[in-house]
Amino acid sequence: MKILLASSEVHPYSKTGGLADMVGALGKALAQAGHRVGIVTPLYRGIAERFPEIRRVDWTIDLPLGGRRAQAQLWAAEPIKGLTIYFIQQPAYYDRASLYQENGADFWDNGERFIFFSKCVAHLARYLPWQPEVVHVNDWQTALVPVLLYEIYQHLGMTHPRVCFTLHNMQHQGVTREHILRATGLNRHAYFFHQDRLQDNFNHSAINLMKGGIVYSNFITTVSPQYRGEILHSSQSYGLGHTLHVHQGKLGGILNGLDYEVWNPETDNHIPRKYSINTLDDKFANKAALRNRFWLRDVLRPIVCYVGRLDHQKGLPLVTHAIHYCLQHGCQFVLLGTAADARITNQFHDLKRHYNDNPDCHIEIGFNEDLSRLIYAGSEMIIVPSLFEPCGLTQMIGLKYGTVPVVRATGGLADTVFDADHAPLPYGERNGYTFNDFNHAGIESALHRAIGLWYSYPNHFRELMQNGMRCDYSWNNPGGHYLGVYDLIRDK
Ligand code: ADP
Repeated sequence: MKILLASSEVHPYSKTGGLADMVGALGKALAQAGHRVGIVTPLYRGIAERFPEIRRVDWTIDLPLGGRRAQAQLWAAEPIKGLTIYFIQQPAYYDRASLYQENGADFWDNGERFIFFSKCVAHLARYLPWQPEVVHVNDWQTALVPVLLYEIYQHLGMTHPRVCFTLHNMQHQGVTREHILRATGLNRHAYFFHQDRLQDNFNHSAINLMKGGIVYSNFITTVSPQYRGEILHSSQSYGLGHTLHVHQGKLGGILNGLDYEVWNPETDNHIPRKYSINTLDDKFANKAALRNRFWLRDVLRPIVCYVGRLDHQKGLPLVTHAIHYCLQHGCQFVLLGTAADARITNQFHDLKRHYNDNPDCHIEIGFNEDLSRLIYAGSEMIIVPSLFEPCGLTQMIGLKYGTVPVVRATGGLADTVFDADHAPLPYGERNGYTFNDFNHAGIESALHRAIGLWYSYPNHFRELMQNGMRCDYSWNNPGGHYLGVYDLIRDK
């Protein structure tokens, strides 16, 4: 099959979170299965320098944008056979120090930046010589693509647009002022600025790009089955509940996979000592290296970690509480994270200062993939106490690296982590600790049990680590499910 994916970030070229991992890995898995795959993404600052194999293509995209025209230069790379990554170079929009934000606030022109990007994606979907059969877009940044395909490109000779739209996070919907409709080229204002199409459900003077994607796509997926239910039946839809209900017949949930060629302690060249389920003791060389790196003392204590964005979604009050709790209950704690919000950054800098001289704690504010690998490999437990979690990759990475996840049972966390004491599964299939209540008592109940097992029953703890390493969250299953969706919509 011929598939064109589009995303505002793609690993290993650009990344702020799991969206990049998912699109990079899905594209690769589909190409390895013999399909023809393209991925369209912006050429952000530094990508061309870091990946010299990316080549300028003889193709300038020239599109109307509002009352003017805007141009983009196409670049491309073919990292593996069957997979082409198309980069949209538009320096005024994408050659910036970061992807979406500056000084703790979104770029003022994000709407325009990603409307232009979506127009480029739609243009490629129509004019690429290999004629993709299905276009797969992700989150609000590319949600306009199906609208453009059905409302504009269908009249330009694209007879059968077929679009799958994946919702990675409903908190960010691309709600922008309605005047931006003019920039899209969707000029029938009264028609598009309508409750059944792009008008935001609550802010009636705004358009909602994610809503447009839901209305116009042929199929919508969430990144875990549990999250599908949650957005349909709780406030997690952030105001799009009604729209989702109307379109629920085309809404499915497919659990993300993890690219085990990228995340695997047996082959990870960025960690000091590789290890596998059979050589688990080698993991502790990484623990020693992690301690060394962060000047933690060498004592008989487990290391608990947190890796991830420092965002309201991630349950920050519980992350902070877990740090205090773990330090008081015989653990060391390591945190790696970045915040988009300057107030949260300051809060964690304060915490870092507070624990500065503590030989059992290190807080690292920043984005650093190599360091994240050392932390996954060197820790024994990873906490993910999210308020909501569409899928979550850090718990899956933790599992693969033999780092026992302690998670709140929400979204994809509930689909991947099975409580060592309570899960209705044989012991060999249990792999972590879960809790339900979003409060101190909730996370304490899980941490208390995890830490207790580490101290009192080290052999059982080791089995739990191995159970996690045995889990298969590769792309084999989800890749097949996406192909099923593509097949379904292609033939409709
Ligand atoms: P989300 O997409 O909500 O950010 P996920 O758990 O789905 O969360 O994906 C997070 C991904 O980003 C993981 O690959 C994780 O290792 C990575 N990541 C998050 N924060 C950092 C950071 N500060 N440094 C390095 N990697 C990070």
